[in-house]
Amino acid sequence: TRTFIVGGNWKMNGSQSTVKDLVAMLNNANLDKNVEVVVAPPSLYIPSVISTLKAGEVAGQNIYAESKGAFTGEISAEMLKDVGAKWVIIGHSERRHVFKEDDKVIAKKVKHALDVGLKVIYCVGETLADREGNQTTAVVFSQLQAVASEIKDWSNVVIAYEPVWAIGTGKVATPDQAQEVHKEIREWIKKNVSPQAADAIRIQYGGSVNSGNCKEIGMKPDVDGFLVGGASLKPEFVDIVNAQQ
Ligand code: 13P
Repeated sequence: TRTFIVGGNWKMNGSQSTVKDLVAMLNNANLDKNVEVVVAPPSLYIPSVISTLKAGEVAGQNIYAESKGAFTGEISAEMLKDVGAKWVIIGHSERRHVFKEDDKVIAKKVKHALDVGLKVIYCVGETLADREGNQTTAVVFSQLQAVASEIKDWSNVVIAYEPVWAIGTGKVATPDQAQEVHKEIREWIKKNVSPQAADAIRIQYGGSVNSGNCKEIGMKPDVDGFLVGGASLKPEFVDIVNAQQ
């Protein structure tokens, strides 16, 4: 049995005052004790969230794959570790598409993060054109293939399936569409890693998850949690964490 894991990816949103409010909201909420909660604030706010949040762990939204040096504007996995973050999100579609991160860059980040001892939420997902061209599994498999050789211990990895066409669009995948791809991902892990890893790995769904659609998607057998964007900034994040109740 896999522990349900719900992530809140705050992206580039908030201020000191809204971050404080959001943490207070989570600390005061009645969150399902059987669910692992991870929030990913903008890096500037990570230390303050770590020192105040009681209800979950903290993730970085990105790293650069070097320990230190002349890389203006970047932060390292070591720095995330240093301030007490336990996780990092890697391969998010906004990193892939807006910041043009390719498989090679992403694989290096995954390796570096795991080497340093961070757990990784690794994001995969197809564009609308991929889906319409029947390339969904081909694309997702190639994104898995790109990092697989860098992962020695899959227990430190959570996969987030986030169809690009569903991110921030209000167009959520249907429960069946999510289940279909999650099942394929688990099969891929079974074939290319091991049956044990496939059985244990958590696969989150992300893309326009809200309090209204989370229950039905979360009931699917291969959906082990959510990675939530917009709704993670709102009180309904609590309902999403509690989707299994
Ligand atoms: P939305 O929930 O805003 O669609 O964003 C999903 C996402 O990208 C989470 O990483």
